Amino acid sequence: MIYSNNLRPESLKSLSDVIHIPFWLDDPAKPNPEPPLTQNISTDLLVIGAGFAGLWTALLAKEENPSREVVVLEAGETAIGASGRNGGFMDASITHGFLNGLARWPKEIAALHALGIKNLNEIESTIKRLGIDCDYQLTGEIDIATEPYLLDNFTQFIELAKPYNIDFQYLDQEQLHSVVKSPLFIGGLKRLDSAIVNPAQLSWGLRKACIDLGVRLYENTPVTKLDENDKTVIAHTAHGKARARHVALATNAFPPLLKRISYYVVPVYDYVLMTEPLMPAQRESIGWYGREGLSDGNNQFHYFRTSADGRILWGGYDAVYYWNNGFGSHLENRPASFALLAEHFFQAFPSLDGTRFTHAWGGAIDTCSRFSPFWGTAHHGKTAYTMGYTGLGVGATRFGAQVMLDLLDNKKTERTELEMVRTKPLPFPPEPLRSIGISLSRWSLDQADRNQGHENLWLKTMDWLGLGFDS
Ligand SMILES: Cc1cc2nc3c(=O)[nH]c(=O)nc-3n(C[C@H](O)[C@H](O)[C@H](O)COP(=O)(O)OP(=O)(O)OC[C@H]3O[C@@H](n4cnc5c(N)ncnc54)[C@H](O)[C@@H]3O)c2cc1C
Repeated sequence: MIYSNNLRPESLKSLSDVIHIPFWLDDPAKPNPEPPLTQNISTDLLVIGAGFAGLWTALLAKEENPSREVVVLEAGETAIGASGRNGGFMDASITHGFLNGLARWPKEIAALHALGIKNLNEIESTIKRLGIDCDYQLTGEIDIATEPYLLDNFTQFIELAKPYNIDFQYLDQEQLHSVVKSPLFIGGLKRLDSAIVNPAQLSWGLRKACIDLGVRLYENTPVTKLDENDKTVIAHTAHGKARARHVALATNAFPPLLKRISYYVVPVYDYVLMTEPLMPAQRESIGWYGREGLSDGNNQFHYFRTSADGRILWGGYDAVYYWNNGFGSHLENRPASFALLAEHFFQAFPSLDGTRFTHAWGGAIDTCSRFSPFWGTAHHGKTAYTMGYTGLGVGATRFGAQVMLDLLDNKKTERTELEMVRTKPLPFPPEPLRSIGISLSRWSLDQADRNQGHENLWLKTMDWLGLGFDS
């Protein structure tokens, strides 16, 4: 059965008290901001952006070479971007899922898969080593079928993954209901190499580790322009300049400091709700004590998980692109998306009727046409950048940070030799074609979900071209 988009008044009522702050950032553990930059400084490595990509870059650089001077400039506060407002699903995949990686880089998917597992293991060991309290749990993730054709897809995935020893487990309805009960869920596909985490707490833990190692962090310091001279790149801010031998640009979906990035990345807004903590009887009605990350197997999918204090985070489905790479905090509150999410939530979990949502928020996803990260350099190799994670960067950004450091240090590594790292996604066309193409793709994906997954000519052509739209 597919979700109905008819909004019922009782679903809307559940939203009447929400606050529009990401749940993860509404936390007394949130650190006080570091002061902004108010002087001219110089450094070996300048990192721009204190989300996961920037924080991992700073941490890895400093851990590898403690004498290297590292400065981070952050426009707002640490984790104010996607890193503090995501679902907290930390997947091992660095290719936006095994199937996307297999389709795009069939010759190196085994290596990409192994690098992804290594990356996740190293994140886990770093969290333990640094004692970061961030509710990290290797729970595995289950894709859920709400219609029979998705079960067929799942069995095909298992076959495709077999030669690569990837542990997909098929769950029939009874097995799935022993994990989580919903009248809509008819079966699932479980992967073990996926964790959940409190993303803001992880960001703040990485921030603290950076500061403890001597990284200088300036918050509320937007970089307005980059230029270069022979040996350095100069980052301009309102009240000071930072001169650096190397710059790592980790600005994700934010308006880019390098024009070329705007051809490859479009900001797509994704919306999320968080419930109040469930009462024991409510929890019993749905089970789900294992805290697995869950998501629908459709094109337009919801992702959902539990929090440490027993709430349910429910996000996704509506992915909204705004004209001409529209971006800004005014786009983070979209009542129509919140209403649809609430309606779908009660269809999935009717036994939770009466539950209230406490938080509703949105955030921009750095969508690129191959759904997975890409890298590049500028300023004659003195600047490197990574973005394009397309909604799966909680874990993969650490790998992305390692590649940025390899590129800046001019090191040839297993990572830099990958075709995935050496190539870029196909660029998006300029407006108005950009908006038209994305709207057509969104509409077609919705139609496919309503038509047993059958793709129309537009989607088939996009697939053939290796282009796509996803959140
Ligand atoms: C709603 C939502 C749900 C998601 N769910 C998941 C999920 O469950 N699992 C998953 O793997 N991924 C998810 N993602 C994606 C994931 O959050 C991102 O891929 C990841 O956080 C990207 O990290 P980042 O450091 O590149 O970007 P960000 O966290 O966005 O950090 C970029 C930083 O750069 C700063 N910045 C920008 N411009 C400048 C400038 N000019 N000067 C100084 N600083 C600047 C910004 O202020 C920001 O702090 C989700 C994203 C969203 C929005």
